Amino acid sequence: MLLYSFFLKNILFVKSKIFSKKHLHPLAYFLCSALVFFPFLSFSSEPENYSCRICQSNATSLFWEKLIRGKYMGEYYLCNKCGSLQVKDPIWLNETYSEKITFTDYDPGRFERIKLVSSVITGMKKNLKLKRKLNILDFGSGEGILKKISKDNVTNYDPYFDYSSLEEVKKNKYDLIVCIEVLEHLEKVHEFLSLLKELKSPDTIILCTTELIDPNNLDPAWPYFIFPIGTHITFWSEKSFDCMKEYLNYKNVSHFRVKFLSFHLLSNHI
Ligand SMILES: [Zn+2]
Repeated sequence: MLLYSFFLKNILFVKSKIFSKKHLHPLAYFLCSALVFFPFLSFSSEPENYSCRICQSNATSLFWEKLIRGKYMGEYYLCNKCGSLQVKDPIWLNETYSEKITFTDYDPGRFERIKLVSSVITGMKKNLKLKRKLNILDFGSGEGILKKISKDNVTNYDPYFDYSSLEEVKKNKYDLIVCIEVLEHLEKVHEFLSLLKELKSPDTIILCTTELIDPNNLDPAWPYFIFPIGTHITFWSEKSFDCMKEYLNYKNVSHFRVKFLSFHLLSNHI
């Protein structure tokens, strides 16, 4: 930038000597000025880097800009270290979440989804030889459907709903923490991971569902981006889950798909 300023000063000096306003047609003068200031325009529009909200790396770069909710320009940054894609400063979230829309309006598939998660939990109990009645924390539980249909001891936690306070939630020990379609909504990922660290024990299994992205094959037409709604702001890759595994001191992370959901399991059991 210093070099550029020096260069610019000299150009301006030459410009003032040779291309004084009175010798030039006004249009030619405007074009010369535009040429001189063009690099400044480029500098001012250069995207800022920022730290990845999952792995804290600075290796992020602007991947694309997309119109969110039809009126906000969302800047999507790709982390070159963990491969996550995330929307910087999603200023529309308060507006979106304060709208009094019901789940029926925008998430009619939630019952089927949670029934599927429940059946996966039943399968896990068999395969991993877990106890018959688990203590489960449903993190980001929404309406608490899992608690309604499960035979396990399920604690609901959702900052947008009036369930147990965080202090109460922290008092219990959990065999399983489930985060069903939560991770893609997170802006403060580090706070979330710190909280999980407090809530888990070495035996706790964490089961998440979120669709994975492949950073080498991003398709803007993917419906999971939900640009018109704008509540999906953090898209995780397999490498992002490796970072989560390391941060939470787990031995294993595995990924599997059952029907229409992508599952991610962190555990020391397998
Ligand atoms: Zn990252």
